[in-house]
Amino acid sequence: MAAEKTQAIVIRTFPLQEFHKIITFYTPDFGKVKAVAYGVKSPKSRLSGSLELLNHGTLLFQHRENRELQNITDFNLIDGFDAIRSDFTRITYGCYFAELVDSIASEGLASPEIFNLLYTTYQSLAHATDIPLLARGFEIKFLDCAGYGPELSRCVHCGSAVTEAFPVEEDAPINRLSITFSVRYGGVLCDNCGNRDGAAFTIAPGSCELLKMLRKSESERFNRIRASTRNHKELKRLLGNFIEHHTERTLKSLRFIENVL
Ligand SMILES: [Zn+2]
Repeated sequence: MAAEKTQAIVIRTFPLQEFHKIITFYTPDFGKVKAVAYGVKSPKSRLSGSLELLNHGTLLFQHRENRELQNITDFNLIDGFDAIRSDFTRITYGCYFAELVDSIASEGLASPEIFNLLYTTYQSLAHATDIPLLARGFEIKFLDCAGYGPELSRCVHCGSAVTEAFPVEEDAPINRLSITFSVRYGGVLCDNCGNRDGAAFTIAPGSCELLKMLRKSESERFNRIRASTRNHKELKRLLGNFIEHHTERTLKSLRFIENVL
């Protein structure tokens, strides 16, 4: 057993009996850390109020290898993201990002990239003008960090380039009207391989280019990007199907966004 100190974001809370909670943190140094906060629901607890979902702070805990639940020693709040919390749409998306990290990121697998992505996305969420676009950017970056990122430039079956919207050859069509995407194969398919996956669907080249732009841009710059209704619809479908394929479940918060927002 070792005393450890790390930055952490609360990504899940679960009540345990009357006064306790099971908290799941995402940390840059230990990945997911699950711990019991004894007595946290009692007003006398010094941790009372600090272990709310999305809170970012410094976590001190007793690390026991191969134990599912760790013991929290202390949690010092750094940022409660109040600007997100005071807005229903923003907090709903914030909960979705936390649930997505919880659903894929393996326990014990440390990923500073995933921690930084979640942290910077929450900072951007506070003042994002197009919140669904921020969500699509988070999804593609998160899939990349988790090792499930889709291939967007070369056919996932034969390897040929497929996404040039304006081919240079003289006899080639002036503009590609659509690009075939396969969730099962994990990316785009060329015209010759398009029928390899019966469940593949098509997206506009512009949506594919937008996805590449979201993948490489910092989320704080997303406010400068404009997306059409079609782009939104296609990327939501593509990334939603992709995430469902890898998590093998429909995320509760995503369903809530679809039904309520
Ligand atoms: Zn191909």
